[in-house]
Amino acid sequence: MRLTGKVAIVTGGAMGIGRGIVLCMAKEGADVAIADLQVEPAGKVADEVKALGRKAVVVKTDVTKEADIQALFDRVKRELGRIDVLVNNAGVSSKPGLPFTNNTEADWDRVYAVNVKSVFLTCKAIAPYFIERKAGRIINIASIAGTMNSPVMPPYSVSKMGVITFTKIVAKELAPHGINVNAICPGILWTAFWQELAEHMVKTNPQFAAMTPRQVFESRVNAVIPMKREQTPEDIGWAAVFLASDEARNVTGQALHVDGGVVM
Ligand code: NAD
Repeated sequence: MRLTGKVAIVTGGAMGIGRGIVLCMAKEGADVAIADLQVEPAGKVADEVKALGRKAVVVKTDVTKEADIQALFDRVKRELGRIDVLVNNAGVSSKPGLPFTNNTEADWDRVYAVNVKSVFLTCKAIAPYFIERKAGRIINIASIAGTMNSPVMPPYSVSKMGVITFTKIVAKELAPHGINVNAICPGILWTAFWQELAEHMVKTNPQFAAMTPRQVFESRVNAVIPMKREQTPEDIGWAAVFLASDEARNVTGQALHVDGGVVM
C-alpha cells in the first residue's frame, strides 16, 4: 500500500492505459479522480475503484481547455481534500502519414492540443499548489514513438518527444521545490488507440489487407519488441505507482521506457 492517504488525478482514465493507472494506484491505497471526456466509461472505472475500498470522483474534462482543468483541480481539492499526484495520460494518435505529406494541418493542430498543450496547461495550473505544499508528483505519459522518431505518425511522434522535453524542463524548474516530474514511454498496447490504428492499416495498406486488426498488432509486436510480448495497462500502472511512491523520491526528469526493450 505505497500510496495510502494520497490523492491522484489521472487524465484519460476512462479506458486503456489510464484505467490501468487508476486501478493500480487505487490498489496501492490512493483515492483517484478520473478526468476524461467520456463520463460513462469513467463512471465504470470509478465503480471499480470504490470496489477496492477507495474514493473515486469522475470529472468531465477536456484537457485542451484551461477552464476545464482549473475546474477539475478545484473539484478534486473540494471532494477528495488534496492533490498529491497528477498523471497526464490523455492522448490521441494521428492518422498514419507516410509520406508525411499525407498529414493535414488539422491533424497537427489536434494532436498538438491534446498531447502537448494539455500537459503545459495542467502543469501550469498545478505548480503553484505543489510549490506551496513543497511536494507533488507529475507523471506524463509519452511514448516510444517520441524517442524512436517513428516516421509512421509524424505529428504523434513529435508531440511525444515534446512531452519528454517539457517533462525535463518542468522537472528542472520544480526540483528545488521538492516536486518530481517524470515521463513514462509505453511500448505497444492493445487499447482502443491501437485497435483504431490497426483497423486503419488493414483498410489502407495492401501489406496488411489480408490480416485482422489484431493480427496486424501482433505482427508489429513480433517485429519491433525484443521481448516479443505486448505491454499491458497494468505494466504502465505499476511504473506510475513507483514514480508516485516515496521509493522514487530521488527520481526526476526521467523518461522511463516500459516497452519490452524497444528503445535500448
Ligand atoms: P485510449 O484511446 O484507449 O484512451 C485515451 C483516453 O483519453 C480515452 O478515455 C479518451 O476519452 C481520453 N481523451 C482523449 N482526448 C481527451 C481530451 N481532450 N480530454 C480528456 N480526455 C481525453 O488510449 P491509450 O492507448 O490508453 O493511450 C493513453 C496514453 O498512452 C496516450 O497518451 C497515448 O498516446 C499513450 N500511448 C499509448 C500506446 C499504445 O500502444 N496504446 C503506446 C504509447 C503511448
